[in-house]
Amino acid sequence: MADIVYTFAGKPYLNLTNACPCACTFCIRSAADGVGTAQSLWHQRDPSWEEIKAALEGYDFSRAREAVFCGYGEPFCALEMLQKTARRLKERYPGMALRVNTNGLGDLINQKPTAAALAGLVDAFSISLNAPNAARYQELCRTRFGEAAFDAVLRFARECKSIYPKVILSAVDVITPAEIAQCRKIAEELGLPLRLRHFTT
Ligand code: SF4
Repeated sequence: MADIVYTFAGKPYLNLTNACPCACTFCIRSAADGVGTAQSLWHQRDPSWEEIKAALEGYDFSRAREAVFCGYGEPFCALEMLQKTARRLKERYPGMALRVNTNGLGDLINQKPTAAALAGLVDAFSISLNAPNAARYQELCRTRFGEAAFDAVLRFARECKSIYPKVILSAVDVITPAEIAQCRKIAEELGLPLRLRHFTT
């Protein structure tokens, strides 16, 4: 059975779903079955609320300063479980910050506005910008939403900035230096920092 909670870089990570509308050329999922302490992050089916609750009970969060929703899928593909899990963690560990790593496509995935869905529960968002324009985004992220996806990411990021205390954008260093500079400009215009992540195989 796949790990629902695992430790990576000293922090608890939550792997609620394997669903994702993208097939990014740099996706870590194609490199290994697991990361950190997880042997496998591939669920046979996405976990139920009962299974998630049992996994939360079985993990010692007591010393964690931050827990991260990430795993081998897009957390907003399991929005209801994401909300329930965040709520439970905030109730049990009010001093522990919660971060969501997302591709920013929650609105298109759920066909409704989703930026505010975790207001009061989540402290930070890391949103994948990945490219300086819609065509390049589609080339790299190969989302099933086509070129409409890029604008949706920007809109989501803008809305998150007005709701959550900490929001950053990210890109992977598979793009050119000129594209990185363009991404930095977009981030600046949005008033958000851009974190460059190193591509690992
Ligand atoms: S959005 Fe994330 S999980 Fe989905 S394919 Fe891209 S890198 Fe992989």
